[in-house]
Amino acid sequence: MTVSRRSVLRNFIVCSVGAPSLLCAEMLLDPLQSPAAGAHSSFIRLDRNENAYGALDSTLEALRRSLSFTYRYPDTQNLLQQKIASLYKVKPEQVVMGCGSTDVLRMVADAFLAPGKGLMIAEPGYGLLAFYAQVRNAKVVSVPLAGSHAHDLKAMLAAADSSTGLVYICNPNNPTGTLTPRADLEEFLRKLPSNIPVVIDEAYNDYVSPTPLYASFLDKPVNDPRLIVTRTFSKIHALAGLRIGYAIAATEMVSKLDRGFLQFGVNLLALPAALAALDDTEGLKFKAKKNAEDRLQFSNAANARKVEFLESHTNFFMLKVDKPPRDVIKHFRDNNILVGWWVPAMGQHIRVTLGRPEEMKQFWMVWDKLSA
Ligand code: PLP
Repeated sequence: MTVSRRSVLRNFIVCSVGAPSLLCAEMLLDPLQSPAAGAHSSFIRLDRNENAYGALDSTLEALRRSLSFTYRYPDTQNLLQQKIASLYKVKPEQVVMGCGSTDVLRMVADAFLAPGKGLMIAEPGYGLLAFYAQVRNAKVVSVPLAGSHAHDLKAMLAAADSSTGLVYICNPNNPTGTLTPRADLEEFLRKLPSNIPVVIDEAYNDYVSPTPLYASFLDKPVNDPRLIVTRTFSKIHALAGLRIGYAIAATEMVSKLDRGFLQFGVNLLALPAALAALDDTEGLKFKAKKNAEDRLQFSNAANARKVEFLESHTNFFMLKVDKPPRDVIKHFRDNNILVGWWVPAMGQHIRVTLGRPEEMKQFWMVWDKLSA
């Protein structure tokens, strides 16, 4: 179950949104992943799990108000941190802000991954921490998802030992979009040796429609000093380009993470934009509703074509293809649509991010051309 550096890189490329420079060389080798397809390209981008509808009006307004202050350094003790703390009923010092949750996860890696202190992840899963582990010469133990595409927590427990420095749980999981039941996670935490820290990455939390299977570890906390719960403003809040994310953890845990804190890492525009987004509860509710409708539309369109897919609790789907995924991705690219890569552990699927209705119409037209 130990994975090679190369497969970690490939896995990360599959699931990542923006590749760190070390990965770019690898990406350039692959014509399908050319960086030419940048943020302003004319491609329909269904490959990066972005919010297809753009930022909230309230956020844009906050940004406009802040533009004339960009000559200043950002505040470090900021209102946003206090707002997040009050939202989740924790102390402000329990909130770690970062330049995207990518940065927060880097701090976690700095604190807990090293030679002899390895990472345990699920496969397929979001590969960023595995990449961080590899560059720190920490072993990566990847445990295949269970048949239900939840984390196989029993197998993860069995694989945990004194060399496990950190466990990473992504819930809902990227790239599968699937849930790991809350009750199973609580049992897992009870049984896991008490000295192993656990990251729960809730990047897609806001897309989960109400279900007894899921509760965020922030909305319904467990009092566990090992836990680090990460969130991002890149998804439902639609601020991926501004780079802002955070983690909540016990104070003692935060003091370990803070050693890797990037001074002024959260920029002056990201702060008010994120604050405005959090305040706009109606806007966020609307976005979640829209995403649930888009998910239903996607499921209907796939079912009508008898295409298999994994039930998604996010803004993307894993779709089964009956041709080599590479050819399918190329076909879409040739038709001006970028869809996500495939993961080796699910070699018959591609990941498709939900776009706006007109973009999805285009997606299915191109899909039908492929079948024809
Ligand atoms: N965690 C997961 C599960 C993600 O899918 C992503 C990005 O797609 C991230 C973290 C990184 O998000 P951010 O944009 O906050 O760095």
